[in-house]
Amino acid sequence: MSADRFRIEHRYLELPHTFYTRVQPMPLKGARMVCFNQQLAADMGIHSDNPDDWTAIGAGAELLEGMDPVAMKYTGHQFGAYNPELGDGRGLLLWETVGPDQRRWDWHLKGAGITPYSRFGDGRAVLRSTIREYLCSEAMAALDVPTTRALFMVSARDPVQREGVETAATLMRVAQSHIRFGHFEYAAYHQGEEALRTLIDHTLELHFPDLLNQPEEDRYRLFLEQVVSRTANLVAQWQALGFCHGVMNSDNMSIIGDTFDYGPYAFLDDFDAGHICNHSDQGGRYAYNRQPQIGFINCQYLARALAPVMNEDDLRRAMRQYELSYNDRFPRLLRAKLGLEQELDGDVELIMETFNLLHEFRVDFTRFFRGLSTLPSQGTAPIRDLFVDRSAADSWLVRYRERLAQETRSEEAREAAMCATNPKFILRNYLAQQVIQEAQNGDYDPMHKLLAVLARPFDEQPENEDYAALPPDWGKHLNISCSS
Ligand code: AMP
Ligand code: MG
Ligand code: MG
Repeated sequence: MSADRFRIEHRYLELPHTFYTRVQPMPLKGARMVCFNQQLAADMGIHSDNPDDWTAIGAGAELLEGMDPVAMKYTGHQFGAYNPELGDGRGLLLWETVGPDQRRWDWHLKGAGITPYSRFGDGRAVLRSTIREYLCSEAMAALDVPTTRALFMVSARDPVQREGVETAATLMRVAQSHIRFGHFEYAAYHQGEEALRTLIDHTLELHFPDLLNQPEEDRYRLFLEQVVSRTANLVAQWQALGFCHGVMNSDNMSIIGDTFDYGPYAFLDDFDAGHICNHSDQGGRYAYNRQPQIGFINCQYLARALAPVMNEDDLRRAMRQYELSYNDRFPRLLRAKLGLEQELDGDVELIMETFNLLHEFRVDFTRFFRGLSTLPSQGTAPIRDLFVDRSAADSWLVRYRERLAQETRSEEAREAAMCATNPKFILRNYLAQQVIQEAQNGDYDPMHKLLAVLARPFDEQPENEDYAALPPDWGKHLNISCSS
């Protein structure tokens, strides 16, 4: 590892012992390195000429010097109910490193075996869900959405029982932080005020260092304000991409505002505002159009946990930031998606009308906005073709063009800007399904190919036009559940 340019700084271990349990990974058999993120490794300062050097670590069979694996303890609200029994049930924080650009990285091996927080689980992750997490975290990063990342994944031969027998895999998930809202709920409700303060101060030092320059009496309020604002901004980005997370429990909410824990997520194809992507979410608590509200509720859970060390006024003031941030960011994102540089009266109505149109006619979300982007060079066909009832598209287009007439930017400049904001290539569920099937037959080339396409979501890729296609009939509304 002579060429490595990172240093080890396992700071999580500085927290009180109640925040974690040391656990050794349970080794997997027949491990194979199936995907390795060369670019990310380079950014992190990791020597990676031979990805196979990392296979045994991915399999949980070896540790590097300095790795000191722990299962993190946290609690959280799942589907609105508080669960004190949570924690890393199948993932281990191996160590933290700092790269050549001084960015910190938590290394979290997901699928590493049983921990004291596994409850009834087996501590494992299956191949299909590991591929889904890898694909989506990298797709989100390329779309400029804050997210955890995938450094590498290993497949194994060990059988894992789910609905049927599947095979095990692990993911080396990396992120600036793996601290969740649920960590603060755990500290507040089970460890007391001192532990809560220790956790906040730890988080500030590592992830909000600017706040350390603020007067002490303002720090916690500014911290909550920033977390709330990041969360609102994140959800606004999801909404603007048609992304549905699926399991917005407070233990899946990152304190730094990353998209965290990819389970039954979906990018919407034919737009349905009430779409529920998680098969286990019968009540639709985490439906697409409920995400902004749920983001707020999660911030409230966090605020409640911080109540022992903050006063009512500060809590309320910080929580106001959610609406302010969301109502600032979401319309800005939608204006950019529609190619509107000016901010004019009636824009919010146009945005609402657009969503109503997409919902009523179940229009493909991604192709619609990409079609709008290329209106100058391609004309209306790519948009009209998405509608069974073309006249509905036509009357909306009349209204849209009237609004465009009030813009001053050239059509070429508008097209370029819109193409840089409305992706052509997204991770449709059926695309993930296809590469999973190939991988289950031992062929990972399709996964690598899909990753390469998703790494450039905004570029025209004429040779990869197929990847932008509407889902085939079998690929619409695939049922994805939590049991992965
Ligand atoms: P999730 O719904 O993915 O956020 O998971 C909720 C909790 O269940 C977390 O504490 C996980 O660590 C735990 N968990 C999920 N799958 C397993 C598994 N196969 N074995 C043990 N724990 C698990
Ligand atoms: Mg989770
Ligand atoms: Mg999960």
